[in-house]
Amino acid sequence: MIPRMGKLSSEQLKAFALSECKADLAGIASADRFAGAPNGQRPGDFLPGCRSIIVLAVGVPDGALQAIMRKREDGLDSVHGIYGSYGYVGGPNYTLLFGADKMARFIENKTGEIATPCPAGPTHGAKMISLRHAAVAAGLGTFGWHSIVISPEYGTRNRFAAILTTAEFEPDPLYDGPELCNPEKCGVCAGICPNGSIPKYNEGEKVSVEIGEKTYTYCKFRFDPCTVAGQGLFGDGAVAAIAEGRGKPGPPDPKTEPNNSFFIHFTSWKCGFCMAYCPAGGWAKHFPKQGLTRINLKEYMNGAPR
Ligand code: SF4
Ligand code: SF4
Repeated sequence: MIPRMGKLSSEQLKAFALSECKADLAGIASADRFAGAPNGQRPGDFLPGCRSIIVLAVGVPDGALQAIMRKREDGLDSVHGIYGSYGYVGGPNYTLLFGADKMARFIENKTGEIATPCPAGPTHGAKMISLRHAAVAAGLGTFGWHSIVISPEYGTRNRFAAILTTAEFEPDPLYDGPELCNPEKCGVCAGICPNGSIPKYNEGEKVSVEIGEKTYTYCKFRFDPCTVAGQGLFGDGAVAAIAEGRGKPGPPDPKTEPNNSFFIHFTSWKCGFCMAYCPAGGWAKHFPKQGLTRINLKEYMNGAPR
């Protein structure tokens, strides 16, 4: 039996997350909010006796995110790698990787309880709880139609990590602020997705999940076309790649994908249009008003043409 050495308050924990772990946002969920998660995906499956889940978030810098726009709007494929480095694989996820490690050691040293850091992003490959669902359970935001988490602070442009712990902390309330996504009126994500991964709101199947006392609905996402888009294959190329069985992560084709996959074994960052062009989170202020995009989102609303 590990001695319980002391107590930490939820406020102390979140202050540590922001100052020492370099997170932009932090929230706490109780393990019972995951009661509706599938077997093998609940916090207790990864850490028996888990009582609390601490979620760290970092915002993707606008300057890294706008590299997606340089690819889509200016045809600058090589610039897209800035997003790969600082928006997807590298920067945010290494900040979160080290932040989660620091938080786990802080909890264990201060309380004597067990704390398990969950690796962030596509860099590290371990199976873990769904970080998107954990972020919603910790009150950091809600699901958009595209199934990505929208926070009021950063819209879709967040990355997350989680720390599971047997220590008990006061959970944050679920997000209950202004509406962040109305897919009946918007639908930009469905319209701008080049491979049809996000169905139109009125045509696509929906998924409902229960987290705590709330039910959330988002699209039934098509993973295979998105996976090949992440490898840089769009439209007909995507259809062909899926037909060849490349809809799942695998080694890159050296003819089309040179050695630019960072520390993972396949390239996964070559799209991101849904994240870049989702208007939630003050999008106009960050991008069109700064002259970073010329796209008129109205053309894509209600899932209009790709
Ligand atoms: S693009 Fe529009 S419909 Fe899609 S998630 Fe963002 S706000 Fe919702
Ligand atoms: S990353 Fe690209 S292919 Fe995948 S859902 Fe977003 S827009 Fe569609």
